[in-house]
Amino acid sequence: TDHMLIIGASQAGVQLAVSLRGVGYEGEITLLGDENHRPYQRPALSKEFLQGTIDKEKLIFRSNEFWENEGIRLIKDERIESITRADDGSGVAHARSGAQFPFTRLALAVGARARKLDLPGAELPGVLTLRNADDALELKSVVDDASDVVVIGGGFIGLEAASSLHGMGKRVTLLEHGPRLVGRAVGPETADYFLEAHRQRGLDIRLNVRLAGFHADAETGRVAEVELEDGKRIPAQIVLVGIGVIPNTELAEALGLEINNGIVVDEYAIASDGTTIAVGDVANIPNPVPGAPADERIRLESVNNAIEHAKVAAYSLVGRHEEYVGIPWFWSNQADLKLQIAGLNLGYDQTVIRQDPTRDKFTALYYRDGRIIAADCINSPVDFMAVRGALTRGEQIPADEAGDIDVPLKSLLR
Ligand code: FAD
Repeated sequence: TDHMLIIGASQAGVQLAVSLRGVGYEGEITLLGDENHRPYQRPALSKEFLQGTIDKEKLIFRSNEFWENEGIRLIKDERIESITRADDGSGVAHARSGAQFPFTRLALAVGARARKLDLPGAELPGVLTLRNADDALELKSVVDDASDVVVIGGGFIGLEAASSLHGMGKRVTLLEHGPRLVGRAVGPETADYFLEAHRQRGLDIRLNVRLAGFHADAETGRVAEVELEDGKRIPAQIVLVGIGVIPNTELAEALGLEINNGIVVDEYAIASDGTTIAVGDVANIPNPVPGAPADERIRLESVNNAIEHAKVAAYSLVGRHEEYVGIPWFWSNQADLKLQIAGLNLGYDQTVIRQDPTRDKFTALYYRDGRIIAADCINSPVDFMAVRGALTRGEQIPADEAGDIDVPLKSLLR
C-alpha cells in the first residue's frame, strides 16, 4: 500500500499531513519529527510564550485524538540520519535510535536551524539561540536570574525577543553587525522606523558592531560579558544569538537532490529527482507571486508560506498538479509594534511612505516598474488589508497618490 513519510513535524509537515487527508489521500501517513514535543506553533516562542502570557498547551497544533481519527501516525523524538532508496522512489528512513521507517513516497519538511556564532566563548552556558520549544524553555529557565541581556542580530527574531525581554524588565542591548535593522526583508525606511521606535521604547540598539567574543563569570562559568572588537565589554547574563537560520538540507543532499539555499523545488513543491517533496522553510521555491520573473527563486521563512506550500504539495502527492501561486504575507509583533508584510519587495525600484505625524503607524509601499508589489505595514492593518487585496486581485494603487495619509488606500484601488 501507499505509505507517505513526512520528515519534520512542524508547521509545514503538520499542514501537509492534514491536507493530504483533505485531498482524499487514503494511504498510510507517518508524520515524524525529532523534537520531544507534540507539534506546536513557533511564532509565540519569541513573544507570548517567552513573556509567559500563554503556556505550551496553547501552542499545540492538534489533539492526539485528531491524529488518531485522521489515521496519521505521529512519531516524536526520532531523528532521521540517513535514507536508503530504491529506483521507484520508495525506501527506508533510518533514525539515530536504530528505528526504521519505510515509505513509498517521501516529503522533507525539515525546516531550518539557528545559525551559531563562531567566536571565542560562543559555547558558554547562557549563550542561547531560539528556534524551537526546548530553546525557549531553556531561555525561560534562566531569565529570572538575569538583569542584563544582549541580543545579537537585529532581524525579526532578535527584535521580537529583545522587545519581549525588555517588557519583562530586563536591560536589553541589541547588537547588529550591519548598518541597519532587519536586513533585506524590509526597505531602509522601515528599518529606520523600527530603529527609532525601539530606541524610544528603551532598547539600546547598536549598529555596525563587530564582536570579539564572550567571557564567563569566574564562579558560575556562565556567560557574563560580551566583548566587542574595540575592547568594550557589555554585561550579559543571557546572550541570545538571532543571526538567521540554515536550511536543513543534509538529508536531501545525501539523496542527491539539487540544493541552492534550500532544497530546490519546482512550482509543485517537487525536488529535482521528480518525486521527493520539500516544503516550508527548507524549500527554495520559484517566486510564487503571479507574474513574477520565471527564473526568480526565493526561500521563505513564514507560517503563511509553510501552510500554502504544504497545500500545494498535498495536491502534487495525489497527482493533481496545482501551481504554487499566491501573495505571500508575514507578521512580526515587537512589543506594541505590529508589523504585517504583504507581497515580496524583491526588485523594487520605488518606495512610497505613509507616515502619520504621531509616528504610531507607518506604511512603506514598494513598487517595481510602476506597479505595487509589496507593503510593510506597522500598526496599520487597514493598509495591509488594502494592499493584500489589491495584490490578490491584480489591482493598482497609484504611487503618486498613495503617500497621502489622509486618503485611505482602499479608495485608490484601480
Ligand atoms: P520548522 O518549523 O523548522 O520545522 C522543521 C521540523 O523538522 C523541526 O521540528 C525539526 O526539529 C525537524 N527536523 C529537522 N531535521 C530532522 C530530522 N533529520 N529528523 C527528524 N526531524 C527533523 N513566522 C511568521 O510568519 N510570523 C511570525 O511571527 C513568526 N515568528 C517566529 C518566531 C520564532 C521564535 C521562530 C523560530 C519562527 C517564527 N516564524 C514566524 C517562522 C515560522 O515559525 C517558520 O517559518 C515555520 O515554523 C516553518 O515551518 P517548517 O515546518 O518549514 O520548519
